[in-house]
Amino acid sequence: MIQLNSVSKTYNKIKAVTAVSCTVKKGRITGILGANGAGKTTILKAVCAVHYPTEGSILVEGISTKDNPLEIKKRTGYVSETPQFYPQFTVKEFLTFAAQYHGEDVRQIDYVIDLCSLQDELNKKIGKLSKGYRQRLSFAQALIHNPSVLVLDEPTSGLDPIQIHEMRKLILSLEKDKTILLSTHLMQEADAVCTDLLVLHRGMLVYSGTVKNILSCTHTSTLDDAFIALTKETSI
Ligand code: ATP
Repeated sequence: MIQLNSVSKTYNKIKAVTAVSCTVKKGRITGILGANGAGKTTILKAVCAVHYPTEGSILVEGISTKDNPLEIKKRTGYVSETPQFYPQFTVKEFLTFAAQYHGEDVRQIDYVIDLCSLQDELNKKIGKLSKGYRQRLSFAQALIHNPSVLVLDEPTSGLDPIQIHEMRKLILSLEKDKTILLSTHLMQEADAVCTDLLVLHRGMLVYSGTVKNILSCTHTSTLDDAFIALTKETSI
């Protein structure tokens, strides 16, 4: 479980997130929706202790990200929007390196290779991988230490339709025993994989609840319309 308690984040003078409070439950897939710049990545990074709230606090399985960032990094796997790798490593070398870093053995390397269908690319240099395989590798490294919390920043961005389908299948297969928080711009994706939604508008939380309830709350019949209703600007 992840708890955000009145979280605000300011970069110099830019207020990216304002007083967000919510709970992300275990065994469910929670999507963060929001327009460009709404604060999605800022929240995901804060959950993984990549940075800290300016105000408020975040607890991951009861542990404060600010007080115990190392423990948070053990419990979370993060797939960034723009994964960074050492391009000269092969896929196998990189996963071996990541496993050793976390004190995991060869069984865990084989497990993530299989899970993320990386068998055919093991000896390829990362710099030569296609976008889809880079994304799978990013997933594999996020899962190598079997984290109980998985945080995914636009996990299907830039993938082709078949890769999107496979990535969603992979995410759904992990739902049962993990807390999964993912950001997306795609309503179809939210509909296909998420059970719960957080909607951000200009850094503020304007909806927190189930995918089912969002339609009745907004008196709409599609997620697209619900999102527009929640984030429309009222003109004076
Ligand atoms: P997108 O959908 O475009 O990825 P987002 O919802 O993930 O956007 P964030 O990346 O969290 O939004 O950005 C929220 C706000 O904070 C934006 O105004 C952005 O310019 C600003 N911001 C993000 N990171 C930094 C940073 N390192 N320094 C300064 N401002 C930042």
